[in-house]
Amino acid sequence: MKLNLKLQPLSTWVKTKNEPLLIAGPCSAETEDQLMATAHLLAKTGKVSVLRAGIWKPRTRPGEFEGIGSIGLTWLKRAKEETGLPTAVEVANAKHVEEALAAGVDILWVGARSTVNPFTVQEIADALKGVDIPVMVKNPVNPDLQLWIGALERFNNAGITKLAAIHRGFSSFEKTAFRNEPMWELAIQLKTLCPELPIINDPSHICGNRELIQYVAQKALDLDMQGLMIESHLDPSVAWTDAKQQLTPAALSELMELLTLRKPESKDKEFTDKLADLRTSIDKIDDQIIQKIAERMQVVQKIGEFKRDNGVTILQVNRWDQIMNKRSAFAKALKLDLNFTGKLLELIHSESIRKQTEIMNDKVNVE
Ligand code: PEP
Ligand code: MN
Repeated sequence: MKLNLKLQPLSTWVKTKNEPLLIAGPCSAETEDQLMATAHLLAKTGKVSVLRAGIWKPRTRPGEFEGIGSIGLTWLKRAKEETGLPTAVEVANAKHVEEALAAGVDILWVGARSTVNPFTVQEIADALKGVDIPVMVKNPVNPDLQLWIGALERFNNAGITKLAAIHRGFSSFEKTAFRNEPMWELAIQLKTLCPELPIINDPSHICGNRELIQYVAQKALDLDMQGLMIESHLDPSVAWTDAKQQLTPAALSELMELLTLRKPESKDKEFTDKLADLRTSIDKIDDQIIQKIAERMQVVQKIGEFKRDNGVTILQVNRWDQIMNKRSAFAKALKLDLNFTGKLLELIHSESIRKQTEIMNDKVNVE
């Protein structure tokens, strides 16, 4: 089912200096000098459309720097006056909203730790009733698309139509190269459910380090995301928060130069004909895959009945190990990614087990 959000296109509420839309600024506003200097350098790149800065910082442990607070809003106001850049801050409760609006902040965003909590989201949404301001909603910390959607709906219900989602990755138990797993499929699902909703990628919080930012930003653009939010600090080595992932304004500017902007479609006849051909092939192969999976499930059904009638357990670990080893060797020979084929086989196997469990339980029902 498609999402029914009332939205105004991104281009009507933010003026893009350069493609793609770039929102940049320090993780935290620390001092007036740090914010002003960073803002001027960012404005000078000519690539930044919105200046971001965290004023109230939600931190994992107490005792860490929790944001400079309201005074930072006056610095942001000055930065806007001097650079002409509109400003964006994170709000996490009704009081933040009130103060940010009073200080003339242009765009508000809701952080990942707030999106997880519908009480918090509703409090912020209630504080925004009747206010015409853009709101960007970061994905929740945990990979729950419904929570993300729920937050967007709460703002939309409060009358906010200048709405965007920010994809900042998801906390995961497994430790990988990323600070927060991108789980691109969740952003893609959101886009599929609501194609008009702008999605902005935040590679800084996905990566947690500078090295991977370009790779993630490029991937976001290739997935047709509408913009990037990237943390930038005058001198990241002394940043009070997220020091490892911030870029100097100069490094950010260089990174933007390296990104390739591809268009979502091309009207060129040769291109569209060739693409249509390739898509026909894909459609045919997908049909064959589904057909083969259905055939496999029919055999699974027979095996289930056979095991049931002979009083044998569903799972035989040896057999499963054999399948995994043989199929992986075959997949490797075909140059397929083993992580991918492993996941695919696990999925097929767990569906087979589910089916056989159903069959075993049929017997219970019959008896
Ligand atoms: C931030 O943007 O500085 C921030 C706290 O992000 P997140 O809510 O994504 O952790
Ligand atoms: Mn940060």
